[in-house]
Amino acid sequence: MSAPVYLDHAATTPVDPRVIAAMLAVMGPDSGHGNPAAVQHASGQRAGAAVEAARGQVARLIGAEPREIVFTSGATEANNLAIKGAGAFYQARGRHLVTALTEHPAVLEPAAALEAQGWSVTRLRPAADGRIHADQLAAALRPDTALVSLMHVNNETGLIQDIAALGTVCRARDVRFHVDAAQSAGRLPIDVRALAVDYLSLSAHKCYGPQGIGALYVRDRPRAGLAAQMHGGGQERGRRAGTLAVHQIVGMGAAAAILIGEREAEQARLAALMTRLETGLADIPDLLWIGADAPRVAGIRNVAIGGVARESLLASLWDTVAVATGSACSAADGEPSAVLQALGLDPVTAQGALRLSPGRWTSERDIDRVAAALRGVITRLRHIAAGEPVDDLPGPTGLPPAYSAAVTDWFRRLSRVGHLAPAPNVLQGAAGEPRQGAWVYWDLAVAGRRIVQARFRAWGCPATLAAAAWCAERVEGQDCAAAAALTGAEMAAALGLHGAQRSAALIVEDALNNALAKRTRHALSAQDATCPS
Ligand SMILES: *Cc1c(COP(=O)(O)O)cnc(C)c1O
Repeated sequence: MSAPVYLDHAATTPVDPRVIAAMLAVMGPDSGHGNPAAVQHASGQRAGAAVEAARGQVARLIGAEPREIVFTSGATEANNLAIKGAGAFYQARGRHLVTALTEHPAVLEPAAALEAQGWSVTRLRPAADGRIHADQLAAALRPDTALVSLMHVNNETGLIQDIAALGTVCRARDVRFHVDAAQSAGRLPIDVRALAVDYLSLSAHKCYGPQGIGALYVRDRPRAGLAAQMHGGGQERGRRAGTLAVHQIVGMGAAAAILIGEREAEQARLAALMTRLETGLADIPDLLWIGADAPRVAGIRNVAIGGVARESLLASLWDTVAVATGSACSAADGEPSAVLQALGLDPVTAQGALRLSPGRWTSERDIDRVAAALRGVITRLRHIAAGEPVDDLPGPTGLPPAYSAAVTDWFRRLSRVGHLAPAPNVLQGAAGEPRQGAWVYWDLAVAGRRIVQARFRAWGCPATLAAAAWCAERVEGQDCAAAAALTGAEMAAALGLHGAQRSAALIVEDALNNALAKRTRHALSAQDATCPS
């Protein structure tokens, strides 16, 4: 079995081997690279020269001057430095910040931190096409607005903001403008002058460089103000203290240099791959490709898959495809994407969304494997929800380690998915709903005191489906009273459910009890349904 296809480049990209080679050259006892601040010896000077060469490469990628690049630990730090640093510098003008609901947490959280200090924060809601429009931004600016922070390319949807138009609005009102370009630097041409931005955040590990290094572009002429957030040895012209991470910086420079030469061809190749994937899935009903008609980059697509629970979708893909991960098995933890909801998707649709993000080494063969896997998993999960038996549809070979061996086993088999035709001796009962993260529907055929057949339909995480399958086998042939006495705790123990997975067992149990509670009414109306209370 080959390794899963890596389709999560929006989360992080593998480091390009050429980048690794450049980094290794400045590491180790024979590399002759010291602390770049130690200008009194050759090793320090050599390191300083390597840093400055890399600074030039990063600057060139975005049309900036080398002195306008401040190295940070990543885009999170760059965003914090820009928002808190510009905030502190310009707060005398007013303490109002404008950002958007669809920003990355690395912008939303520093914004919230300013808010906690008494700032007023406006969070714009994009139009249905994902765009923040220039007039919408203009209307949000106030005399006391100190800073606007909007991202270039969204990390969940790949949608592109018209930064040049938004920058023009800010400049006309003399408001500083910060752009989180973590997802765009590897994908779109960037020219900070043409975009009219004052600060721009970059991250190396989103474009085939190492993790733990990024940069903030800070416009020099006219100078954009910035209060340092890290104080120490005065590195980076006092804007970010701390010994420069020479190997990381060299890696980021090498990654930028590769992009300058190869980005355009790479994006064309990724666009063709995404088209291949979409074409491969075109006949599957109820797929909603987010932002289908809006400007977006090729390497990030989000697709909302109707009728499947994301937990089971992701878990089923575990051995085949690495895609944007969901969270633990519960409605409370598995919050649907706030970004997708801000675009107008209802929480249930947003919950079934998957981010597909191919990259530099993704092949056509990989894409075909992903399409086949998605098709199989979607079909199987939709069958389970519709009560169509899945005995002929192969289950996944493995599940994530969060699920016990017992859950994995039951989830793979899932016998007794199905319906029973309505009849006087058939008891039906349901519990849960998509908003609760799961639902289960039982059909129980009873004869006398016994349950002679148990069939279920279900939608939810693997623990829900496994618990229903376990329960179906357990109660078939059993006395009604014994079935009613079955507890969620017993189910949880038998299946090794833990944490939030236990709520799955409770929904299965509730549904079963709802079915069994109907036995009296059925017994009164039909002679052959005599499961007494
Ligand atoms: C990844 C990402 C960040 C955070 O970057 P780090 O370098 O991991 O700190 C910020 N913003 C966006 C849009 C991102 O995609």
